[in-house]
Amino acid sequence: MADTLRRLLIANRGEIAVRVARAARDLGIESVSVHSAADGDSRHVDAADRSVCIGPAAASASYLRRDLLVHVAEATGCDAVHPGYGFLSEDTEFARQVGDAGLAWVGPSPEAISTMGDKAEARAVATAAGVPVVPGTEGVLTSERAAVEFGREHGFPILLKARAGGGGKGMRIVSDADELPSVLSLARQEAAGAFGDDSMYVERYLPRVRHVEVQVLGDNHGTVVALGERDCSVQRRHQKVVEEAPADLPGETRHQMCQTAVRLAEAVDYRGAGTVEFLVDVDTGAYYFIEMNTRIQVEHPVTEEITGVDLVAWQLRVAAGERLAALNYEPRGNAMEFRITAEDPARNFAPSPGRLTVFEVPDGPGVRCDTHCYPGYVVPPYYDSLLAKLVIRGRDRSEVVQRARRALREFRVQGVATTVGFHQWLLEQPEFLAGTHTTGYLADFAGTGSMLQEEVT
Ligand code: ADP
Repeated sequence: MADTLRRLLIANRGEIAVRVARAARDLGIESVSVHSAADGDSRHVDAADRSVCIGPAAASASYLRRDLLVHVAEATGCDAVHPGYGFLSEDTEFARQVGDAGLAWVGPSPEAISTMGDKAEARAVATAAGVPVVPGTEGVLTSERAAVEFGREHGFPILLKARAGGGGKGMRIVSDADELPSVLSLARQEAAGAFGDDSMYVERYLPRVRHVEVQVLGDNHGTVVALGERDCSVQRRHQKVVEEAPADLPGETRHQMCQTAVRLAEAVDYRGAGTVEFLVDVDTGAYYFIEMNTRIQVEHPVTEEITGVDLVAWQLRVAAGERLAALNYEPRGNAMEFRITAEDPARNFAPSPGRLTVFEVPDGPGVRCDTHCYPGYVVPPYYDSLLAKLVIRGRDRSEVVQRARRALREFRVQGVATTVGFHQWLLEQPEFLAGTHTTGYLADFAGTGSMLQEEVT
C-alpha cells in the first residue's frame, strides 16, 4: 500500500460503511466511522477502529454536514475520506472541501462529479465524446413549448427528467401534449423538493428497454478500465431491486458498450470507481447512455463476485496512487444481488422500521450477505430501508437462481416486514427466469402487493 493512506474517514452509515471498513482493514488501513445518535447500535460503529457520534438522527444534522465531517477527519488524524453512496457521495462541494483540507477524496475530481451530476451537461459531454444518448432536448427546458415540439417531432410519450435527478425522482412520463403542463409542474415540484433545482430536460420514452450499466475504474495516471456490465432491469419506480452480471448481451455489444463507457470516463479524466448507465432497446439492440454515477454503486458486489476484484479495495488503492496496471481479472460465472429492505410488499412497499427480533442470515456455497444488522438491532425510521444485500454466485444463471431460492428460504427476519418474500415470488416468474423482462416489468403487475400476501415458503 502506498504510504499516503494510513487512516480513512468513512462518511456514511449502514452496510456500505461496514463494507468500506472491511476493505480498509484488509489493506492495513485504519478507519474511523461516524454515526448519528440513532445509529449507535449499527454494526458500522464497531466495524471501524473507532467511531465518532456526529449529531442527532436527522441526516441534515449528521451525515450531510460537510464541515463537521471534514473536521472529524482532521481531528482524528485521517488522510482520506470515503463517501460511500447516497448522502454526500456525489456532492461537489464536499469533495472540494475534503481536497482543500489536504485530505484525499476517494472518488473522482470535483469537476467530474459536477459535470456528471448535471444530467443535461452529461448528455452534452457524452454526445461530444461520440457516445449514443437517448434522443432528447439539448440542455434544460426553457419553455413548455419546447417539450411539446419535441413530442410532436419524435412522438409521444416523452419522459421529463430532472437535471439534478437521482433515485427516479422528478421523472414523469407525458402521454400527450394536453397533459404536459400539469405533469411538468408536478415533476418540477418533485425535483425542487428533492434536489433544490427544478430544471428539467426531455428524453424520448423508450417503452421496452433493459437497464445495463458498465463498471469503470480510473487511476491517477490516466488509465481507465471497464470491469464488465450489470443488468439492473428489475425496477420499482425506476429504482433497482435486483441486479445481475453478466447481462444477456451479444459479445460485440458488450465490447462496444465497455469501450464507450471508458471513452466517456476518459473525457472527464475519471479517477476511482464509477458507473456508466445505458438503456438497451430490446427490439433493436441499440444502446443509449442515460447517466454516469460518480461513486461506488449499491450493486457493485455482483461485479466483484464474477471478476474476483475487490472494487472498494481498488477505490482505496487508486486513491493512494496505485496504478491499475496491477489489476488482473478473468470474469467467471454469474451473480445476482437481491436488495433486502425493511419494506412491506403487501402494503405497496411502505417502510417498516422496528426491532429485528429474529435476523438469521443465509450462508453456504455461493452466498454472500453484506449487512450492518443483527438480531435485536432496531431499524431506525430516518434513513434508507436497506437491511442487507444478498449476493449469490454460481457457474451459470440457473445455478444462481437455484442457490438464491435456497438462500432466501434460509433468510429469516422477524419484527419488521421485508422484501424476502417478494424476491421468492420473483424467482418463480417465467419472464424473470427466461430473462425477457424489461424495466417496466414490475409496474405491469398493478397487483403485485396482493399476490405477495400469499406467503411463499
Ligand atoms: P435516476 O438518476 O433518477 O436514477 P436514470 O436516468 O438513471 O434516473 O433512470 C432510471 C431508470 O428510469 C432507468 O433505469 C429506466 O428504467 C428509466 N428510464 C430513464 N430514462 C428512460 C427513457 N428515456 N425511456 C425509458 N425509461 C427510462
